[in-house]
Parts: sequence; structure tokens; C-alpha cells
Amino acid sequence: MSETATGGDIDDATVRRVRGRLLSWGRANLRDFPWRSETNPWLTLVAEVLLQRTRAAQVAPVFREVRERYPAAADLVRAGPDAAAAMTARLGIHWRGPLLYRLAETVHANGGVPPESPEELRAITGIGPYTAAAWLSLHRGRRAVIVDSNVARWLARMTGRPYHRDPRGVRWLQHLADGLTPVRAFRDYNLAVLDFTMEICTPRAPSCPVCPLRRDCVCGRARMDADTHHARQRNNCQCDRSTAG
Ligand code: SF4
Repeated sequence: MSETATGGDIDDATVRRVRGRLLSWGRANLRDFPWRSETNPWLTLVAEVLLQRTRAAQVAPVFREVRERYPAAADLVRAGPDAAAAMTARLGIHWRGPLLYRLAETVHANGGVPPESPEELRAITGIGPYTAAAWLSLHRGRRAVIVDSNVARWLARMTGRPYHRDPRGVRWLQHLADGLTPVRAFRDYNLAVLDFTMEICTPRAPSCPVCPLRRDCVCGRARMDADTHHARQRNNCQCDRSTAG
């Protein structure tokens, strides 16, 4: 296949179609969480840290409390490590308490705002490539490509390639995700992908029959073919016989 924006996994017309359908799906289906409309950089970074491997619905009440009690990093620094631990303990992630407190200290030392270069962000303990990309693209207006295990699963299904739970260093995956992420509408696109992989292309029992991407997806097409085959068998369908010559 010739060189494409995604390195050959899907062609450029398909890239545009998939992107457009995801954006359109997002306009109708995006979920509403308090950090999505928040503009305070400290609070949005806290949200992305709390969201690591934790369900958004669980994080929402804790985020509201952080916003109420510690609207600036300095507030949490003053409150002390135990206050940070109390917040993360409510999510059952005790080990993240010290990380949250160190994050408050780092942001406070940086003048109250987190650094905005990916390298500086990733140098903060507890902030990996995914969290840095999510924060920059969703909250700071910087194009960044989000690739987590959900995106890895979705793109493996789309292409028929093997699923890598840990997507770091998987070049085809990074290349494909990069090619799909728009230059301008990256925030809307990334939000749509986040929700789409939680609501439609779920880990178990993906909703292929209602998926807007099913015609461009290897797994979706295989499932539709299988369903059609079984439906034909159930209905004693004559279609195959009438076209067999
Ligand atoms: S068709 Fe199914 S497997 Fe493919 S992207 Fe949609 S939900 Fe996921």
C-alpha cells in the first residue's frame, strides 16, 4: 500500500471518514464531567492524575471536593500530605496520595501553574506520556496524541492487528493514532475517542451493530458478515444460491 498519513494501515479517505464519524458521534454523545469545562490548569492536571486507571464517575465527586478546598496548588501544599492522601484514599488509590502532594509542591514551585512542555510534564513523578498528552490536548489547546490501552484495543480491532495492552513503543499504533488525530479539532476528536472507547468499542461485547465505524473496521465487518450468515441460515435465505450461478 502507498504511504499514507497513518503509515499504510488505513488509507487517507478512510482516515477522513473515521475522523469525521468520530467527531460527529462525539457531538451527539460526549459525557459531561466537571473537569471538561474547568479552565484552572492546576485543577485540570489534578483531574487527569486522578483519572489514571480510575472510572470518571468515581473521580467526579472527589474532583469537586478538590476544586472546593484546594483551588490552587498552594492550598494543598499548606494542607499537607495527609490531605492529599485523604483525597486519593476515597478512590482506593492510596499510593497516589504522595504523588498528588508532590504534584502540588511542583506546581506551587513553578508559580502555581504546571509546566507546559511535554518533557517537563513527563519529568514529574506520576505523569506519563498518556496523562501529559491528555492534559495538553484537552485542557491547554496543544495538539497531542492520546494512546492508552482503550485506544490500542480499538485500533487493533479496526485494523485486525494484535492488541498491545501497553501501547508504548508500538510504532504502528502510535503512527496510526497520530495520523487519525486532526491538526485543528484535536480536542473534540480526543474527547470523542475517550468516550467512544468507553461506550461503544468497549473491552467486552463492543456495540458493533450500532457503531458508526463498523464498515471501516475489520472486526466490525467480520461480525456483520457472521451475523448475516447466521440470519440467512435462520431465515433459510436463498441469496447465496440465487447468485451462485
Ligand atoms: S465495529 Fe465494533 S470492534 Fe469495530 S470499532 Fe466499532 S465497536 Fe469497535
